[in-house]
Amino acid sequence: MIKVAINGYGTIGKRVADAVRAQPDMEVLGVAKTRPNFEAETAIDKGFPLYAAIEEREDQFAAAGLDIAGPVAELVDAADIVVDATPSGIGAENKSLYEEYDTPALYQGGEDAELVDTSFNARSNFEDAVDADHVRVVSCNTTGLSRVIAPLREAFGVEKVRATLVRRGGDPGQTSRGPINDILPDPVTIPSHHGPDVETIFDDLDIDTLGMKVPATLMHMHSLNVTLEEAVDAAEVRDLFADESRLFLIPEHMSIDGSGKLKEYALDAGRPRGDIWENAVWEESISTVGRDLYLFQGIHQESDVVPENVDAIRAVTGSADAEESIQTTNEALGIGL
Ligand code: NAD
Repeated sequence: MIKVAINGYGTIGKRVADAVRAQPDMEVLGVAKTRPNFEAETAIDKGFPLYAAIEEREDQFAAAGLDIAGPVAELVDAADIVVDATPSGIGAENKSLYEEYDTPALYQGGEDAELVDTSFNARSNFEDAVDADHVRVVSCNTTGLSRVIAPLREAFGVEKVRATLVRRGGDPGQTSRGPINDILPDPVTIPSHHGPDVETIFDDLDIDTLGMKVPATLMHMHSLNVTLEEAVDAAEVRDLFADESRLFLIPEHMSIDGSGKLKEYALDAGRPRGDIWENAVWEESISTVGRDLYLFQGIHQESDVVPENVDAIRAVTGSADAEESIQTTNEALGIGL
């Protein structure tokens, strides 16, 4: 069993912990938190050993009646790999801790690409992370874009990608985020930083992205235009995508008109936390005009990177190849709506 430590038990960390626990070849050695909040309570309820991310705060956990297994350094020392799921920029501060104990680490999309040996998306560049020490699982948006670009490049060739990302203002639990009554060009400069982030996965890709922020919490929505190297029928693209395990093609008959019904469907289907690990591509939106492909996709920002973290653990520990890992992860989680 691969012994996994999770440092930072918030939106991403708690989901990665559950996903790791569901795998046949991994175990959660412990999770580290900075504060004794509701997530610390549920970590204990679920039986995850809880470590103090900041040693001087151990007494705060004791005062809240929460047992601490030890300081985070002990957890890092004992683990085969650490998943750092702390807020943007904190992962970079934690890198020296992981180096001190010679424990390989995964970081999340909020960290700079320069921090790591390679950025990672399981479908696109699994091999680059094999035996690497420091790997960044790219952001929710970059993951969502990479999953459609990889098969398109292989099947038809991609000349240019143009994507408009309509981004949720904050996650449901982020009460301080906004806007609450506005539509923001964000960033207002064009192209946005998202395109260069996708180029950390495909270094020869021509991509321009534009970003917006809207008063929504459920999901991001991408409007995508890909100029292919050859003219194809929309039906060929639909067939290509139907074979991709992490692309869910929303069929017309489901009458899912937006992210609200998508989340409702995920909850009805019994998905934990209503998570949608796949890109949700509206099948009817897949259209072609000559070499130009268009589509809309919903990206569940809180969960699409979760299976990618699980695959990155196998890549870094050299315990499976891409196909085997993706299949194991999918089966363990129940991916494929
Ligand atoms: P979050 O704020 O929900 O969770 C972060 C957790 O880390 C919190 O529990 C916080 O208390 C804890 N923490 C803070 N400082 C710490 C420290 N020094 N040591 C250990 N834990 C510490 O954040 P999140 O949304 O889970 O984001 C984590 C990372 O994942 C960021 O890089 C973010 O950019 C990336 N990411 C977030 C999303 C998303 O939509 N939420 C999607 C993809 C990637």
